[in-house]
Amino acid sequence: MDAPRLRFAPSPSGFLHIGGARTALFCWLLARRHGGSFILRVEDTDAARSTDESIAAILDGLRWLGMDWDEGPDIDGPHAPYFQSRRKHIYQQYIDRLVQEGKVYRCYCTAEQLQAKRDKAMAENRAPIYDGEWRDRPPSEWPADQPFVLRLRAPVDGETVVNDAVKGRIVFPNKEIGDQVVVRSNGDPLYNFVVVIDDMLMGITHVVRGDDHLSNTPKQVQLYDALGATPPVFAHVPLILGPDKKRLSKRHGATSVMAYAEQGYLSDAMVNYLARLGWSHGDQEIFTREELIGAFDLEHVGKSPGVWDPDKLLWVNAQHLASTPTADLVALVAPMLEAAGYGPQPLDEQLTHRIDTLRGRARRLDEFVTAGAFYWQADEDVDYAQNPKAVRKFMTPEAAALLQAAEEELQAVQVWDEQSLEAALTPLLERFGLGMGKLAQPIRISVTGTNVSPGLFETLAALGRAKTIPRVRRGIALCNEPAPQP
Ligand code: GLU
Repeated sequence: MDAPRLRFAPSPSGFLHIGGARTALFCWLLARRHGGSFILRVEDTDAARSTDESIAAILDGLRWLGMDWDEGPDIDGPHAPYFQSRRKHIYQQYIDRLVQEGKVYRCYCTAEQLQAKRDKAMAENRAPIYDGEWRDRPPSEWPADQPFVLRLRAPVDGETVVNDAVKGRIVFPNKEIGDQVVVRSNGDPLYNFVVVIDDMLMGITHVVRGDDHLSNTPKQVQLYDALGATPPVFAHVPLILGPDKKRLSKRHGATSVMAYAEQGYLSDAMVNYLARLGWSHGDQEIFTREELIGAFDLEHVGKSPGVWDPDKLLWVNAQHLASTPTADLVALVAPMLEAAGYGPQPLDEQLTHRIDTLRGRARRLDEFVTAGAFYWQADEDVDYAQNPKAVRKFMTPEAAALLQAAEEELQAVQVWDEQSLEAALTPLLERFGLGMGKLAQPIRISVTGTNVSPGLFETLAALGRAKTIPRVRRGIALCNEPAPQP
């Protein structure tokens, strides 16, 4: 593949959908792998359904996934930005050309007449294909002041062949295609026509898209022929299904890519998961972005639909999270903490330290916010009511004495780090004749509100002296309160 040119052509009537994102990714990976171009074209000719919010949402989704485009919105260039709504004058030039060359003809059939033709065909068990009534009528027969559409003078016999890179050779008999409408009676060109003009003028070499577009393809091939242009390579990718094997929809969970960003998935993990959803490379599941660029090919795009598997996505995310440097996690988690109401977080050593203690168990970024809540909360917000059973078990009057002693030791610690904290607190085990659990749990509950946290000494070290000591004092008070009723 020599410098291929691929395009992603979303219709902006919603957010960036999982399926669209995967199509875009396949195009982007091929372009990047082979030193080609990835072009973004906004197909906004349907003014009633296209919105600026949707365009912004789609661009946001692509940016989050790190799929940069070489031509298209926001990029300066001779043809950019590519919005179909701004290219009507270009389409008109090609309509004029087809008219001049006699490759399209006027059809004056009314909607009622067409419906009658369809009904008749159905009654006679024939496919409802336009019968060419106006194909050979001379201008002398054109009714004055009547609306007309322009139809392509398509081949009547023979077949139109699509050599699809995923589906193989597909043959469409021409008599089942008919003379497609190219221009509506109001002068607007039809979708298949503008797509072909754009793909032709943008020099698109490979059209990779969902196989829901396959039925458009023979019509598009006929238009290339009429324009004297060579069609690109087509690759129709099977759709994504939900776990119940029905087309992926809201019933199966979020279908917007950005919803996954908000839920704490990593962009690299989403890219990895989407790439594997419909493409394989031996048994390998985990890929960096660079590995995908190095390996992606159309030959290994599967013929059967990919099935969306949220558990696998979570697993892939956990793998990527484990290999993400802590500094990168800090940069990703800090804005989430702010969004969760914990205020702006300085990107300092303490934040890094805290994230480091949490990363062993986290599978998604939001878990740093929730599992580490005690780090971000004010002392008075630590909630001891979340696990009453543990409080009843560990926060006893006997534990008050232990916590009192622990507080004294903690006050005396000079350098607040894991090692010194361990050295300061371990002698209490012997003094009170206790095992580590008995010592650790009252302290852990005091500072976190729960009996589950990373290792005690690392937690205290990362929490810091300023938050630890007042919380141990709250713990002492709790131990002295009458036990909560079960
Ligand atoms: N605009 C079409 C869509 O959003 C894509 C058309 C194409 O890729 O040819 O489904």
